[in-house]
Amino acid sequence: MKNDFYVKVLNGVKDGIYFVDTKRKITFWNKSAEDITGYKSEEILGNFCYDNILDHVDQGGCHLCHNGCPLQKTLNDGIERTAIVYLRHKAGHRVETKISVVPIVENDQIIGAVETFTDDISVVTANKNIESLKTLAYYDVLTGLPNRRFIEEQVKLKIVEFEKLNINFGFALIDIDWFKHVNDDYGHDTGDEVLKLLAKAFKKTVRGTDFIGRWGGEEFVAVFSDVNRESLITAMERVRVMIEASVLNTEEFSIQVTVSIGGALVNNEDTVEDLLHRSDQNLYYCKSNGRNQVKI
Ligand code: GH3
Ligand code: MG
Ligand code: MG
Repeated sequence: MKNDFYVKVLNGVKDGIYFVDTKRKITFWNKSAEDITGYKSEEILGNFCYDNILDHVDQGGCHLCHNGCPLQKTLNDGIERTAIVYLRHKAGHRVETKISVVPIVENDQIIGAVETFTDDISVVTANKNIESLKTLAYYDVLTGLPNRRFIEEQVKLKIVEFEKLNINFGFALIDIDWFKHVNDDYGHDTGDEVLKLLAKAFKKTVRGTDFIGRWGGEEFVAVFSDVNRESLITAMERVRVMIEASVLNTEEFSIQVTVSIGGALVNNEDTVEDLLHRSDQNLYYCKSNGRNQVKI
């Protein structure tokens, strides 16, 4: 009876919550954990968190389950910790989450740990931009991303902001590697599903002040606000890593793609065309230099 009550309470919480025992076996999985990850508790309970179902990666793209699992660290030292990690949703895309891990202690012994996690940070901020588009004229129908018109108008505004207020920004052209092969091997419709998967990953990857839109076909444009050379590269690299770590799971296949990203930092008297031109040259360099890389 008492237990039932607490389960109801935990299922009412908006954050994902789960418990592990000292062996990292998952013994509780609440309703929000199901919503955020796509996995029902029946699929999760009894598994070990290192079974790689969620395959957590950190911001550098390192897989944490076997090396650097925050839960394991807390089970070892009893210290609470928080981290930003990317889990893999059941549908294949990456979800940025903020996690907190707290040990469960009984009679001075660590008997397990509880992890809470939320996906609000990126969802709220990334979607804010898109909501403010207000009109369908600025959406791409297939991916739901901002379209080329939106990108062009925003970049023009960014250029004005740069000239008047000296706020830097970076522009980046993202092109899928060998996308023609995806269409040839799996069909155009599956190709479209890959584009949608990328769009989902993009939405979860960018900060609230940044955005990624669909420039056309299998090309996307990212705009990163208030960056220098170093942070622009970091932001582009983050996008590249997230795509590399995403998988489209269909009934028959698992498909992974990579992207090449050419970028440019805004300069005095740049037009949209100038930024596009420099980014395109850098993209061309990435393509001829092996793909799956970034350059500014
Ligand atoms: P590269 O690594 O050099 O970029 O190789 P690639 O095969 O990706 O070549 P390219 O960038 O020229 O890609 C063009 C391909 O993208 C051909 C076209 O069929 C496909 N494509 C463009 N738009 C769409 C779309 O909306 N849906 C699908 N499924 N495919 C598209
Ligand atoms: Mg292309
Ligand atoms: Mg391509």
